[in-house]
Amino acid sequence: MDQPKLNEQSPVIKLAIDLLSRASVTPADAGCQKLMAERLAAVGFSNESMVFDDTTNLWSRRDANVTKTKLNTSSDDNNNDLVFCFAGHTDVVPAGNLELWNTPPFEPTIIDGMLYARGAADMKGSLAAMIVATERFVQDHPDHQGSITYLITSDEEGPFINGTTKVIDTLEARNEKITYCIVGEPSSTNTVGDVVKNGRRGSISATLTVKGKQGHVAYPEHVKNPIHLAMPALTELSQETWDNGNDYFPATSFQLSNLNSGTGATNVVPGHITALFNLRYSTELNDEIIVERVEAILNKHQLDYDIQWTFNGKPFITEHTHSKHGFLNAVSQAIFTVTGNETELSTSGGTSDGRFIAPTGAQVIELGPCNATIHQVNESVACDDLEKLVDIYYHCLFNVLCTHKH
Ligand SMILES: [Zn+2]
Repeated sequence: MDQPKLNEQSPVIKLAIDLLSRASVTPADAGCQKLMAERLAAVGFSNESMVFDDTTNLWSRRDANVTKTKLNTSSDDNNNDLVFCFAGHTDVVPAGNLELWNTPPFEPTIIDGMLYARGAADMKGSLAAMIVATERFVQDHPDHQGSITYLITSDEEGPFINGTTKVIDTLEARNEKITYCIVGEPSSTNTVGDVVKNGRRGSISATLTVKGKQGHVAYPEHVKNPIHLAMPALTELSQETWDNGNDYFPATSFQLSNLNSGTGATNVVPGHITALFNLRYSTELNDEIIVERVEAILNKHQLDYDIQWTFNGKPFITEHTHSKHGFLNAVSQAIFTVTGNETELSTSGGTSDGRFIAPTGAQVIELGPCNATIHQVNESVACDDLEKLVDIYYHCLFNVLCTHKH
């Protein structure tokens, strides 16, 4: 095992190691944001720490040159209102069973070109790449158009109550908008940049209780069997065509995940049945329509029921436009420039903080390293991938904020 000395490391690896040495298990930040803020301040960013209860958030902003803004206001191609945002989180999931780690999770270690530590891929590697890309970009193009911002939270892996959603509320109250946002979540599958998430499905869950009347199975005239009553309605819900999806999303899917009833005795009709279900839904639907349609089916079957809804997240999509200046084009061109590969757009996977940013009207994508080891023991990222990610983020900044120079 050859562990190169820290002073021989490249800037992105050095910074990643510095961030990864801090045991910021959610919702702790452990000084990561202070470190990032210092680096950003040195290249002209104004930092604002937003603390909500146990969660530290960083909002950082570097505006375009003011004189230039005034000169350009009459131009057709004025991009000075553009606000580019790097979003991400400094918290990590717990290390889990320490005995299963080959190296201590908060002592970042490089073995055969792989950097091992909790958070290496999700997502302190991305944070380091964003910072180094931004430093280089600002140095090369100090007169860039628009603004560069950072929205960083320490509550992405936790209950996500005091993180990105509260920062967005604060920004919305000031009418401070984000135009384009890259969330540094590990989107890639086999090689860095091979997949970009340009949206996520919505998720809504429910706990349904259908009431009957308990009694002896031998006296059906004295009971109301909630299982018999619920079955046709549950069958109809599971067979319903909710939509046919669209260009970006598969058809909405309804899944029953739990079904519980019965006393354990064969001669007792139970008093109620409880069903848990979830819908992963496309942008063809919304929460209100789903609630209405599910309850219409339950009502049609004349059930006596209670239903509790949980709204996990609305769907969002950043559409591909054929305009040369579209955000997705800027990103896929950046990936092609660095890796020579075409990227694949995907809306698969779980939710991310992108769901809180997209509803403000921002175009949001997720682009980061490979996700094969995230949340696992021996989480790792390829050092080479982090170097490439710096270049990809750099070219994203260039393609969005330096279009005049083409
Ligand atoms: Zn993450």
